[in-house]
Amino acid sequence: MTGVAGIPLEPGSRTLLGGWSEEFGAYSFWDPRRHARSRSRSPSLQVTAETLDMAGQAGIATYLRPADLGREVVVALAPASLLWYVEHGLPLHNAEEDALAAGELADATPDEERNFIDDSQTPSQAARRYDLVETMRPYRDARFRRQVLHAYRFRCTVCRYALKLVDAAHIVPVSFPESTDAVTNGLALCRLHHAAYDGGLLGIRSDFSLLINHDVERRLTDLRLSSGLADFKERLPERITPPMSIEARPTPMNLILGLRARRWPTSLIA
Ligand SMILES: [Zn+2]
Repeated sequence: MTGVAGIPLEPGSRTLLGGWSEEFGAYSFWDPRRHARSRSRSPSLQVTAETLDMAGQAGIATYLRPADLGREVVVALAPASLLWYVEHGLPLHNAEEDALAAGELADATPDEERNFIDDSQTPSQAARRYDLVETMRPYRDARFRRQVLHAYRFRCTVCRYALKLVDAAHIVPVSFPESTDAVTNGLALCRLHHAAYDGGLLGIRSDFSLLINHDVERRLTDLRLSSGLADFKERLPERITPPMSIEARPTPMNLILGLRARRWPTSLIA
C-alpha cells in the first residue's frame, strides 16, 4: 500500500481491498472506504495468523484491529466464501462490537441466532446484532447449498435428474428449532420433487424408502388437480439414492422430524 494515493471508489461498482495468503489458503479484506483517502502515511493492512488459520478451517473469521493500529474489522475468508463476501459480506466491516460473533453465527442454529439478539444490552445493540444475523444468513445458505449439492453430485436424490434443476432442501424446515444447516439435514431435490416433498405429497422415511400421502392424493383428486399423479407415482423408485459418503447421509431422526413437520400421519412415519 505504500505510495498508493487512496483506493478509488467507483459509484455503481463494488470496490474490494484484500489480499491472499498462500500459506493459510485464505483471503483477508479491509474496508475500502476507510482507506479511500490515505494520503498522509502508508496505511498498514495487517491481520493475525490466527485469524487466517481460522478462516481456512471455518470458512470465515473476523479480527478487530486494536485502536492504536486504527480500529477496523478485518474479514478473513476461505476461497469458497469469496462470492458470498462480494455479495453480502461488506457490512461486516461495520460490526465492530460483535465482529467476533460472525464466525459463530456462521454455524448458529435458529435458536442461537435468537439468543444472540435477545442477549443485547441496548436497543441499538439489538439492531446491530439483528443486522449481523441477517448478513450471516446468506453465508450459511450458500454453504449449505454447496455442501448438499456436492454430497449428492448435483443430482436429485429421487429421480437422479441433474440439469441444474436441483435445490438443496432442508429436511427439518428452517422455521423449526431442531433445524440445522448440517449436510445431514439436507437433500438434493429437483424442483418437482422438492415441491412434492415440502407439500407433503411425497415422503422419505428413515430407511430412505419413498411413500405417497393418500390424504394429499385424495385432496388433489377432490380439487381436480390429480392430473399426472399416476405417472408421477409410477416413476418413483423404491428408495432415494443417498450420498456415497455415510457422514453426509440424512440422519433417521431428521427424516422422521421432516415428516412430522409436514404433518404426516404418525402411523406412516416410523
Ligand atoms: Zn427429482
